[in-house]
Amino acid sequence: MMLKKAYSFLERVTPLNTDCGKLCGNACCKGEGEIWLLPDEEKLFCGVDGFEIKKDLDEYNLICKTSCADNRALRPFGCRIFPYFPLVSEKDGKIHISLMPDPRGSMCPLANGKKRCQPKFERAVRHSVRLLIQDKKYFDYFVSYGDMLKEIADFKQKLQ
Ligand code: SF4
Ligand code: SF4
Repeated sequence: MMLKKAYSFLERVTPLNTDCGKLCGNACCKGEGEIWLLPDEEKLFCGVDGFEIKKDLDEYNLICKTSCADNRALRPFGCRIFPYFPLVSEKDGKIHISLMPDPRGSMCPLANGKKRCQPKFERAVRHSVRLLIQDKKYFDYFVSYGDMLKEIADFKQKLQ
């Protein structure tokens, strides 16, 4: 399955080469949250202890009730690539992927510009996204959610 392959690129690499959770007390991962799932990703969490799936129109979110701060293998894609979200676009037949700090991640010292993720992590995120967008449903997902997050980021900037 393409999603599991994309997961595998992000299994061992972390935002920093040390435990970034020590910077913030695992601020993004308190074992209670609602995470966007990619198309078909809900199938990987069906019946998994510590998680519930919430249907929202024809999309799914994951409710986590346990922390996977110490176990990347449990994490959904959105948490594996946090604190980034990929902006995907196509111009002159070429695909571009840029990594935007997730504007919902104000608790994260790596998303607010104070510290940068290691290049190895950034490469792994791009690599996994490049794999997924070979399937149009994932391409469309990243374009549409990226547009939404860009609007949030622009709005936040105007408020500053
Ligand atoms: S909030 Fe940021 S720095 Fe803290 S654990 Fe999450 S990704 Fe790492
Ligand atoms: S990594 Fe796990 S516990 Fe943390 S926010 Fe994501 S799903 Fe929830």
